Amino acid sequence: MPTQGKHRNTRTTHTRMNDHRYAELREILEERRREIVNAMQDKIRDVRAEGSRAPQGVRDEAESSESEIQDDLEFALLQMKGETLRKIDEALERLENGTYGCCYECGEEIAERRLRALPFAVRCKACEEIRETGRQRERALTARRGPVSPFADLSG
Ligand SMILES: [Zn+2]
Repeated sequence: MPTQGKHRNTRTTHTRMNDHRYAELREILEERRREIVNAMQDKIRDVRAEGSRAPQGVRDEAESSESEIQDDLEFALLQMKGETLRKIDEALERLENGTYGCCYECGEEIAERRLRALPFAVRCKACEEIRETGRQRERALTARRGPVSPFADLSG
């Protein structure tokens, strides 16, 4: 009898999640990550290309201040993307710990479809709706503008 057992990969992380779900969620996050990294690289390439296209000293005053505003916007956009990237990395970390994709309120798994649309969702659809309904009721109480349809937010 051979004594060496099968090399089974005994994983200690994401224990509460099945492998299929883990793979799906990981794919969602990594897809997002790729998109953002690509977009950032494109931007950086654009900025560089633009810089080499416009020779120094040719732009007039108005043009250069306009391009400065543009640069600020680009920078803000890059910063936003960087922030999203950080969130994705955090989510990936939580995925490894097995805490990503669980509802903050009830602890149930958040549907993949929902996470695909909202990768940083912290509540399941049901809990989010309860929360929304509560907010709508508050608004209705303060505004008193007729009934608020309870089905207004079923599309997502
Ligand atoms: Zn929930």
